[in-house]
Amino acid sequence: MAPQDSGCLFCKIVAGSIPCDKVYEDDDYLAFRDINPQAPLHVLVIPKRHIATLNDVTEADISLIGGMIPVAARIAAEEGCAENGYRTVFNCNAGAGQTVFHVHLHVMGGRMMTWPPG
Ligand code: AMP
Ligand code: ZN
Repeated sequence: MAPQDSGCLFCKIVAGSIPCDKVYEDDDYLAFRDINPQAPLHVLVIPKRHIATLNDVTEADISLIGGMIPVAARIAAEEGCAENGYRTVFNCNAGAGQTVFHVHLHVMGGRMMTWPPG
């Protein structure tokens, strides 16, 4: 079993002790709907293994982190957002708005996305 942080909300979701609205799961990743969606499609893709922030990603994690992208693309396609477009975001640390310190990729779509983000 992958290393987990017992105090981490998303590790608790991976462990099943906190429920989620799951949209995808395999051995390495879990994806679930954001509890406070900012777009009609707002899913979080997470590695099951606990990594707190992008700053903690090591060389050994590169394929795990890279593998989040096809998971996001697959979900966007399944949710009908691939052609029109979707936004993917990693927030790193509090200054970028990170509130849950377990790496996650936001996948948002179903509306026009503005740039720059707030
Ligand atoms: P960030 O601000 O980038 O760390 O994103 C954390 C995201 O997790 C926010 O968009 C929250 O709405 C979302 N979130 C917090 N708790 C839960 C939960 N129990 N289930 C699903 N999403 C959650
Ligand atoms: Zn965690």
